[in-house]
Amino acid sequence: MCPNCFENDINKFESYTDFEEFEKLLDSKVNKGEVEFLDEEKDWDGNYICKTCYELWTLSVPDNAWRGYFLPREKAISYESRINREESISGYGCITIVVLLAIIFYLILN
Ligand SMILES: [Zn+2]
Repeated sequence: MCPNCFENDINKFESYTDFEEFEKLLDSKVNKGEVEFLDEEKDWDGNYICKTCYELWTLSVPDNAWRGYFLPREKAISYESRINREESISGYGCITIVVLLAIIFYLILN
């Protein structure tokens, strides 16, 4: 992170307009050669490397309820794994409810 790339992490875009504003800023940095777009990795929406501090930035584009982010790679990885963990916990919660309902119905019907 440095003044030539971005000094703040973006954990989520507040709105799609917010994202578009950010995208303009990012494009202008790419055009000026301050940041370079890397397109070899397909797991992410976009990867950018700062030509000054060599920070590797990862972009996730907002999509419906998903708010996206723009974070240094390390933070993006831990952020993604935290989200996956939260999703698997809520998935586990649903299964528990289904099982409980099945037990209740079983007890009622018998
Ligand atoms: Zn930088």
